Amino acid sequence: MIGVVSDPVFMEHDTGGYHPEDPLRVQYIHTLFSDPPEGVMLVEPVEAREEDIMLNHERAYIEKVRNTSASGRTVSLDPDTVCSPMSFDVALKAAGSLNKLTEMALSGEISSGFASVRPPGHHATHSSAMGFCLFNNIAIAAKKALSMGAKSVLIVDFDVHHGNGTEESFYNDDKVLYFSTHQYPFYPGTGALSEVGSSKGKGFTVNCPMSYGKVDGEYLAVYKYILDPIIRLFKPSIVLVSAGFDSHAMDPIGGMRLSSECFGAIAGIIRDASLKVGAPVVYTLEGGYDMDALRDSVQQVIEVMRGNKPPLIDPLEWQELDDMIAIHKKYWDL
Ligand SMILES: [Zn+2]
Repeated sequence: MIGVVSDPVFMEHDTGGYHPEDPLRVQYIHTLFSDPPEGVMLVEPVEAREEDIMLNHERAYIEKVRNTSASGRTVSLDPDTVCSPMSFDVALKAAGSLNKLTEMALSGEISSGFASVRPPGHHATHSSAMGFCLFNNIAIAAKKALSMGAKSVLIVDFDVHHGNGTEESFYNDDKVLYFSTHQYPFYPGTGALSEVGSSKGKGFTVNCPMSYGKVDGEYLAVYKYILDPIIRLFKPSIVLVSAGFDSHAMDPIGGMRLSSECFGAIAGIIRDASLKVGAPVVYTLEGGYDMDALRDSVQQVIEVMRGNKPPLIDPLEWQELDDMIAIHKKYWDL
């Protein structure tokens, strides 16, 4: 059974109109679940407790978001990130819902999960909002998974932006491996190939920076030749995915040229490799700002989660791939 959190409450984080991170994003995705497909179970959103948010964020920062919402005004916490009167409560529900799916996946209650939540999370740092993100949902869920007895967590991030907040949270950590494909150079500026982690976390940050305009086959090659072997070698207890669909060709922000089917093909690689090591997979929504592309891409992922055959896309070998493999080979037998 697949657990999905998709609920109109996530529209209540109000970014104020003319903002790409529009409440309608989750409404478009919700149309996929108004009559849930076979094998999909809708899970009610739950609020995270403050101690769960504190797994990844400073208390003073949590208070700042709470007080900003409580002021009843809509305030910008950084040039891109808005906090509205409902934002604190909705952000608690975003983090809590991903935690809930993570818990259900670890206990075997669901085989995989998808949290269609907002605000997104992967840019949020310990002490600050950034890039449309208030709390780092996936970093909180990874820490929650470890606190519930998971031995290790793999985070896969295919959002077009690098998840600087997530990388920061686990840079010195060998229990949580952070793998990211992202446009580079691009916002937020982090995610260079040379960022591989430090101290005991060396080798457990796997950045795959992609130059502008990459297509399906080039992405697929990175997933097939780098992520697939890493899943089998790292053997995570659970795989969490920062699912950002702003690397789609139609996206107004990202500069990549992926088709909706490519997200299904990526999900296929993640599903099949995770199955081999017995790890459940839980997705959480990050970016993706063209409504139709977002809905269609999520549908591709859900179809693969339901056990359907992933779209066939041939990997395309290219120059930067060799550079990536040369670096990551130092730590993993690729
Ligand atoms: Zn993004």
